[in-house]
Amino acid sequence: MRFVCFTTLLLGICSVAPARDPVVASPGIGVFIDFENRPSQNIVSSMEREVASIMLPAGLSFAWQDLNAPHNDGSFADLVVIKFKGSCGSGFAPFSELGPNETDTTLASTTVSQGQVLHFTEVHCDELRRYLARDISSVREKNRDRLYGQALGRIISHEMYHIFAATEKHASGGVARACHSRAELTQPVFGFDEKETRILREYADLTLPASIPVNPRL
Ligand SMILES: [Zn+2]
Repeated sequence: MRFVCFTTLLLGICSVAPARDPVVASPGIGVFIDFENRPSQNIVSSMEREVASIMLPAGLSFAWQDLNAPHNDGSFADLVVIKFKGSCGSGFAPFSELGPNETDTTLASTTVSQGQVLHFTEVHCDELRRYLARDISSVREKNRDRLYGQALGRIISHEMYHIFAATEKHASGGVARACHSRAELTQPVFGFDEKETRILREYADLTLPASIPVNPRL
């Protein structure tokens, strides 16, 4: 099996830990996204759902924002900026474009400065598109968009792990592992291992304010 490695920092979820009570309201974490070439809404929605699903066991929730929107005010528990380089659509380049150095491909990176993990991530959409081409190019467009968005969500979650855990280290398995196979990016469920979920939950407990019950009539 061949793998793609993340050369800097990134991703994860745990299906073992129980989810928090969903009837809560909190500012969550602001995720400011900027696409060099904006993909379909199906891809964006799939990506956001996947991040929410992966992070739910850790108790993390997100408010997605367009970095270039004219009014980006709001209150957030923390912030992450994600720039998507290249074309994030699910149209596929011929597989041969991937070339012989597939194992050197970088899907995403997060900036580190003087030992500090900064909250700035870049996703390399063209590399992901080429990496997944062999496995999902024959899939119908709607499902292809869903799978591509799902893979984006897993990559982002990996980078978020580096950011929220403030670590350059990787896990031995799960979303926080340094390398992801095509199967891990396209299989129905993929999450953080228990240890990494616990680390993210500790971050959530320190960062997010106390939960406030929601009254839908207010
Ligand atoms: Zn990483």
